[in-house]
Amino acid sequence: MKSIINISVRDLLDFCLRRGDLDLTTFGAISTTEGIKAHQQIQNQRPEEYQSEVFISHEIETLEYILQITGRMDGLRIADDQIIIDEIKTTKQDLTQIELFENPLHWAQVKCYAYMYAQKYNLGKIDVQLTYFNIDEGKIKEIKHEFTIDELRAYFEPLISTYIKWMDKIHEWTTIRNDSINNLAFPFRDFRHGQEKIMSEVGYAIADQIQLLVEAPTGIGKTLAISLPALQTLGRNELFKIFYLTARTTGRNAAEAALNILREKGLRIKSLSLIAKDKICPNPDRLCNGRDCKFAAGYYNRANNALQSAFENDNFSHNAITDLAIEYQVCPFEFSLELSLWCDFIICDYNYVFDPKVYLRRFFDDDVNDYCFLIDEAHNLIERARAMYSAELNKKQFLELRQLLKNKLPKLYRSLGKINTTYLKIKKQYGSGAATLAENDPPSALQSELEKFSNHAEEWLALNQPADFREVLLDLYFDVRGFLKTAERFDSNYATCYNINDQNLSIKIFCVNPAYHLRSMLEHARSSIFFSGTLKPTEYFLEALGCDGSARHISLPSPFASENLGILVTNRVSTFFRNRHHTKEILARTIVNLIKHRTGNYLVYFPSYEYLQMTFDCFKKQDPNTSTIIQTSNMTEQERLQFIAQFSHESKNSLVGFAVMGGAFSESIDLIGDRLTGAVIVGVGLPPVSTERELIREYFDSLNGNGYAYAYQYPGIIKVLQAAGRVIRSENDRGIVLLIDTRILTPPYDDILPREWDIKQFIRPDELNVLLDEFWGI
Ligand code: SF4
Repeated sequence: MKSIINISVRDLLDFCLRRGDLDLTTFGAISTTEGIKAHQQIQNQRPEEYQSEVFISHEIETLEYILQITGRMDGLRIADDQIIIDEIKTTKQDLTQIELFENPLHWAQVKCYAYMYAQKYNLGKIDVQLTYFNIDEGKIKEIKHEFTIDELRAYFEPLISTYIKWMDKIHEWTTIRNDSINNLAFPFRDFRHGQEKIMSEVGYAIADQIQLLVEAPTGIGKTLAISLPALQTLGRNELFKIFYLTARTTGRNAAEAALNILREKGLRIKSLSLIAKDKICPNPDRLCNGRDCKFAAGYYNRANNALQSAFENDNFSHNAITDLAIEYQVCPFEFSLELSLWCDFIICDYNYVFDPKVYLRRFFDDDVNDYCFLIDEAHNLIERARAMYSAELNKKQFLELRQLLKNKLPKLYRSLGKINTTYLKIKKQYGSGAATLAENDPPSALQSELEKFSNHAEEWLALNQPADFREVLLDLYFDVRGFLKTAERFDSNYATCYNINDQNLSIKIFCVNPAYHLRSMLEHARSSIFFSGTLKPTEYFLEALGCDGSARHISLPSPFASENLGILVTNRVSTFFRNRHHTKEILARTIVNLIKHRTGNYLVYFPSYEYLQMTFDCFKKQDPNTSTIIQTSNMTEQERLQFIAQFSHESKNSLVGFAVMGGAFSESIDLIGDRLTGAVIVGVGLPPVSTERELIREYFDSLNGNGYAYAYQYPGIIKVLQAAGRVIRSENDRGIVLLIDTRILTPPYDDILPREWDIKQFIRPDELNVLLDEFWGI
């Protein structure tokens, strides 16, 4: 049976007729809601026989496939012996100034509908009408034209042949891709322990169209084991696209590496790594329009050629896209979004699927499709989603813009003044002392002033005038729109947090439980596979990730010999905040003791920078000669890389890295072999008590009676397990994990610790010495 390829008339024309500059700075387009309303207004004024929103389709059968072109005509009027196809266009331009006959896209659209309709009903001629509606003035201008079927055919056939050539290429590629997948064997001689199980469970989950949580420690090869069954389903044309969603660059690198291994075994797949605009833009100081950026000027004149040539490649990595963008002089970010339409495997950050501000509308504004989401390090998604569905604005932002607009834009200046007054009133209401307070209602007083500001800002921005304050205004305008959109979502899953200090007041609409929003985005995929080394307790993750009732869960033990990992626990040292001054000396002594038994590289994880610094100072007094390195807050990427680079195989002496739990060095770093000999984990990772954490606690207390665990204990122990997971990264690794806290062996923490851990407890230093000697065979 021939496959069916669907294309809408609108997308067909976008592809075949686009010309000109890319312009992401022009403002004032009519919103979809405004457009729909305006269309309905016109349609309601039409005579009785006028039919609105008429579906039309047309099929073209080639040797290989059927191309199905569909569209929805704004209006169809059949009266006496006249048939008129009506296309309504809303505008804000002066109707007397519109060069109507020169707008090829508008005429193209209505001519395509006319051809499809005339062809279907065997008509020799047909009338078409473009109806322009000025949305501000309420004025209408109509232009009619009669076309014969021959005239329409002469227009339509060359147009469609351009697209058919492209579809032939896509069809040919799909055959090559599917053949390569169907002939693809597992790339290694043997499966690692647990790998086959993951592959079969993922295969079933995708086939059954359900969600699956895969908890699998490092070493199983889960990236490959999860990607391969998804690719096999794609090769049977049962999936349309795979989205591999990551939280960090390391996740993206792992996915690219897995695909490269499969490519070496014959896989042909178009894969694309979507890189954030600020990281891939070669012109960061320019504006995204043809006047300012050469990669935007004439972008659409070159885009199709660039696409056709680029399609000779399979692997669109960061570097590959940058090279193509330079070669064809096209904006790399926009071009990568365009390539995503034609690629099979898209590697991108979570936010391209879940963040309401940046999700890929080209895929996820439609109904469910045959997409599969592979969600890497899924334990991170809960906190990331909380941030995505929350929004915050502070008083200072408005005052800074107000200063810039003084004597320039009086209406906006006044509007910003009113926002400032509203902030001051709120501040007065809550008192002047520094505090964070929470309310169960949205910040309505602020919202109404923000709406007014947004309308005034839109009016000015729509003039598209240059000004030195334009960028600041535009940024704040988008922040305000984001805030108002978040306020629209406000329900029992939200709270408003007022963070007051002497200088400022910040108002945050805080998403306490993002599960509902995650669920609604997950519904766009046929199947979602969540995977991580830490997905326990299962009920917590199923609930917090927004999984549906059919979701399954599998948990695999570590594939490495358990005797290679020494797990030592002392539950006699309190790491409570109030005891930290007393315990810093013991901690420092314990670290000195640990490294004395084995020269090597060690990482010590603390619950806070303050505790880290206190213990570090003690350590330095006790052992001034051992090399140390300290994590500091706000390290740059370069500084982080330098930190990690210190952990080398070649070290002749010990190195102790002092880091914070849950930070950049407690997840997603791979210090294989001698690069890491041991980790000391201080505390149970509890997030600090805060207004937001307390809101989470209260929310889940009333939902399931488990608030403290959901807000503090589960997120905490996940950080502990992630930090512990740094030590054994390959089958030849040996190392020590030393856990220090009075609570670690009590519920719920002990239930979540891996079952294969052979935990050895100690109290006194001499007991630790014995255990270390035993482990290292001294
Ligand atoms: S290259 Fe940079 S400045 Fe130019 S259009 Fe692209 S993102 Fe904008």
